[in-house]
Amino acid sequence: MTLTATVLAALAAGRLRIVDLTNTLSPDTPTLRLPAPFANLIDFSAEVVAEFDDLGPLWKHQNLHVGEHIGTHLDAPVHWISGRHGKDVSQIEPERLVGPAVVIDVREHVAADPDFLLQISHVQDWETEHGPLPENSWLLLRTGWEQYSDSQEAFLNADESGSHTPGIAVETALWLATERPISGYGVETVGIDAGRGAELDPPFPAHYHLLGHDKYGLTSLQNLGELPPTGAVIIVAPLPIVGGTASPSRVFALVEA
Ligand code: MN
Repeated sequence: MTLTATVLAALAAGRLRIVDLTNTLSPDTPTLRLPAPFANLIDFSAEVVAEFDDLGPLWKHQNLHVGEHIGTHLDAPVHWISGRHGKDVSQIEPERLVGPAVVIDVREHVAADPDFLLQISHVQDWETEHGPLPENSWLLLRTGWEQYSDSQEAFLNADESGSHTPGIAVETALWLATERPISGYGVETVGIDAGRGAELDPPFPAHYHLLGHDKYGLTSLQNLGELPPTGAVIIVAPLPIVGGTASPSRVFALVEA
């Protein structure tokens, strides 16, 4: 049997499952809110152009209005000042968008502290149990934040001091960017940095270090609980927007049943 036939047979028999890691896109999809004086992107909306009427008697079609960084999306290097001379979203090789998915579960830490920051030691402990982060892998941070994804307010968890959502420490971002052969880093939260990432040095270290080293980001992931710590395959499918700093993306995982 060919390799592709083996995969298709496993899918047909249910021995290989497709898990959708994507949040749905609608005007209610929770989105980042930057404080003044910074400018925010527009949320998703669909504008009906014709709907089985004089403007389109046999069809319905719509214009989409949406910022690049809305919903489950991929951040490309050109999004950040450190990666501004790197790839835009259309230039990322497909080979970098399909690879091993590894899941690190920090839900207990996050339940105790929503401002939890992933430390190098957490990843090293994970590696002691599961082996080194594989070449071309996507490190997915399971925080449990998915449970808030139907509420803008709960998802951003903001008070007068800002947003309180988990993320990654400065040293960890630099270490992953320079010492580990990953292709990407994915989170369940609205952005790849912690809610209080602006207070770190450099500010927003996941953006700064990872995008600055040709690693990619993924946000607003769901269903990470259906993935094993290792062994799944991730398929990340952003739109090839020329000059794009990001794209809403469909993200699947292949998981052995
Ligand atoms: Mn983004």
